[in-house]
Amino acid sequence: MEKVRCLIIGGGPAGYTAAIYASRAALGPVLYEGMEPGGQLTTTTVVENFPSYPDGVDANALMADMRKQAVRLGADIRSGAITAADLSQRPFRLTLDSGDVIEAEALIIATGATARYLGLPSEQKFRGLGVSACATCDGFFYRRKDVAVVGGGDTACEEATYLAGICNKVYMIVRRDVLRASVAMQDKVKATPNIEILWNCNTREVLGDSSGVTGARLERKDGEVFDIAIDGFFLAIGHNPQSALFSQWVNTDAEGYIITDGRTSHTNVEGVFAAGDVQDPRYRQAITAAASGCRAALDAEKFLMQ
Ligand code: NDP
Repeated sequence: MEKVRCLIIGGGPAGYTAAIYASRAALGPVLYEGMEPGGQLTTTTVVENFPSYPDGVDANALMADMRKQAVRLGADIRSGAITAADLSQRPFRLTLDSGDVIEAEALIIATGATARYLGLPSEQKFRGLGVSACATCDGFFYRRKDVAVVGGGDTACEEATYLAGICNKVYMIVRRDVLRASVAMQDKVKATPNIEILWNCNTREVLGDSSGVTGARLERKDGEVFDIAIDGFFLAIGHNPQSALFSQWVNTDAEGYIITDGRTSHTNVEGVFAAGDVQDPRYRQAITAAASGCRAALDAEKFLMQ
């Protein structure tokens, strides 16, 4: 059976950055990229808010560069996903989709999160062509245009407010007659003149043509069906952290986000560290994920030196 000192799970900004730091610390990291090498960023197009790219950078190119940097420094990056984990004792035992088992002295979980979608075929059809689950990533491309945000939580309110500063008009599509968001966020939304809340509405279909999204067909609770004209359709109905494999061992919050100790990446299991969106319900940015990957590698290094 293969034994490694530092195993990293996840091929997003957190995992690759952890691999860069762990390689430079001579921890001999092995990283499994999982089902979505490059992570959530690869579902977007251009990244304009990752520092050091004044003209923006193609999301896939950014991730490919991070990966290349980790490999150049000595990280062993492999395709494959973990299907089972036994973190009851050290070394930890992880089973791969190939059936192989690998043992690790230290484990960095950087498996990320996935945005929730409504599950409409039209939504999938226009993903990346006007349908997005990240206003901070993609909002800039809708300058002075009309867009819609689905959801009534803090994220939806925050994204609607953010988009209102860039776009001409922002519709919020809310399925009930109340917002779930905190009162402060609700007040902010209600005080923003170019946000219109469409209460009691569900999306039936995202409308579009070869140029991308052109509108959305909505159904109000009373049965009325109507269309709105928009260029961007933003989902903000929550995220699912990819923590299920580890939740038997590692403490998570009610939503499944791995709980880390204060400002560190330590989980409740000694030698297991968490980085990136799997432990971050709040910021969820490539740059914050990368920073937390750095923290996890530094914490793992300290742990392995003890
Ligand atoms: P939430 O779960 O809080 O809200 C999800 C929203 O999406 C709800 O309004 C929900 O409606 C709606 N929704 C869910 N499924 C559907 C669906 N199928 N169709 C239509 N609408 C749907 O998620 P958030 O991402 O907003 O927030 C997650 C956590 O992060 C929360 O605890 C939040 O407070 C926190 N957060 C804090 C921030 C801050 O403090 N600045 C910023 C962002 C998030 P319904 O209400 O009817 O269930």
